[in-house]
Amino acid sequence: MSTNKTKGKRILIMNRGEIALRVAKACRELGCVAVGVFTDNEMQAKHLEVCDEWIHLSGSSNAETYLNIPKILDLCKKYKIDGVHPGYGFLSENTEFSDTLVKNGITWIGPHPEAVRVMGDKAVSKQFAEKVGIPVVPGSTGAVPTVEEALKIADKIKYPVLLKAVAGGGGRGMRVCHNADDVRANFEAVGREAASAFKNGDLLVEKYIVNPHHIEVQILADKKGNVFHFFERECSIQRRHQKIVEEAPSPFIGDDEELRQRVCNSAVKLAKAINYDSAGTVELIMGEDKEFYFLEMNTRIQVEHPITEEITGIDLIVCMIQSAFGDDLGIPGQEWIKRTGHAIECRICAEDPITMLPAPGTVTGCETNFPQGIRFDNCLYKGLQVTPDFDPMVGKLIAKGIIRDVAVRKMRAALDGLLIEGLKTNVPLHKVIMNEENFIAGKYSTNYISTVKPQERVNTEMDFNDICKKIAGIEARRMGL
Ligand code: ADP
Ligand code: ADP
Ligand code: MG
Repeated sequence: MSTNKTKGKRILIMNRGEIALRVAKACRELGCVAVGVFTDNEMQAKHLEVCDEWIHLSGSSNAETYLNIPKILDLCKKYKIDGVHPGYGFLSENTEFSDTLVKNGITWIGPHPEAVRVMGDKAVSKQFAEKVGIPVVPGSTGAVPTVEEALKIADKIKYPVLLKAVAGGGGRGMRVCHNADDVRANFEAVGREAASAFKNGDLLVEKYIVNPHHIEVQILADKKGNVFHFFERECSIQRRHQKIVEEAPSPFIGDDEELRQRVCNSAVKLAKAINYDSAGTVELIMGEDKEFYFLEMNTRIQVEHPITEEITGIDLIVCMIQSAFGDDLGIPGQEWIKRTGHAIECRICAEDPITMLPAPGTVTGCETNFPQGIRFDNCLYKGLQVTPDFDPMVGKLIAKGIIRDVAVRKMRAALDGLLIEGLKTNVPLHKVIMNEENFIAGKYSTNYISTVKPQERVNTEMDFNDICKKIAGIEARRMGL
């Protein structure tokens, strides 16, 4: 008999946007009370429609709201919260927050704090991975204190090298250096930037792997020592070291099952070594030669988790909540986790599709006309104001097919049927990528955007007019015109 400690729990969703909505759905499925928050600036957030209760998180800046630990703790006490789901970003990898909750008898829906402490620092986690026997990127395994030392390491591992903030995240705090002059010119500046952005100026120096693939393994574990992997995702289509298209399985690994097993087993080995007990992701960088190295572990649910859910049929957020309250995951063994088909995710961001820079604005119309089987995790509604205060991602379009070609075909049709008016988005860029020959062939690395340059083929004018016409048509029909 499996236990059910999760049912009836009051869960505070300490996030916003599409992930708040996604977590609320999982809470309701489990018979929990989904408690959402809204700030002074986002009174009408779409996730509130899915929550059972909503409370005011007063203030407008992130410091006053989503990052304010004492204020959140007070709300937890006042509203008798049993557990907190942090989503991604914000306080999701902050051990002060998880420690505070746990000390106050509130369940943290995430891994135990020690796992976050070790994995949250790129130097500490690299040392840990090396100790466990997972290959790490050549270079320093600890913070490099001086530019002289950085130059010595670079000479040894050969250029190009990457200066990387140990506390970095979201693709920030990284600089590629092609020669000693680059290192001299950038070392202090990157350290200063890291110190101001992440409150920690320490830097690693590592080999910059050329034309690599970003491969990551989804992990899910319970509180009883069971650690499972859910295969890999490939997230090599990136801009500014941030993912925009992800797919599972990886086209680069393809049908090399021996390699896939080694990749997944390495991730499980690492997660077991840290007694991992929640959902998490082990990120790897893989060279053209298929050698792979540990990059970092994200100790939270990730943006791109849906593609793994689509190919394995498991609800990762539901399992993450069950795991936190000590329930069984209902998975008898690794061999029960199978994958079928292929899934692709396009991150829909309020940004200029050519420069790929954030483009805040207001949604004046939003309609969807998707092919069968499309999943659209989003927080869009007519009237939504996208401000520069938050990440510009407003949704994730997910397509699945029995083989990759079918998933790509469905994604093309889904992008054509995603009509967002008033807001500049990267939908036109995704349309180019889904029709571009290298992508179609599954042959691309993290340099895709900078070398293939799909952004140069974007035609926004045509797209914009088309969308306005289509939305006007839908609205006219609705009004019986
Ligand atoms: P994922 O693989 O889940 O996309 P990201 O590293 O892109 O992981 O982070 C997810 C979200 O969290 C993004 O919105 C990103 O901007 C934000 N984020 C992650 N780490 C940091 C950080 N250290 N500082 C600021 N934002 C971060
Ligand atoms: P973040 O915490 O910002 O996600 P990561 O270490 O995961 O930082 O790196 C983000 C991206 O930067 C990777 O997906 C990859 O594209 C690139 N990158 C990081 N390290 C290297 C490296 N040593 N060589 C080549 N590319 C790298
Ligand atoms: Mg990363």
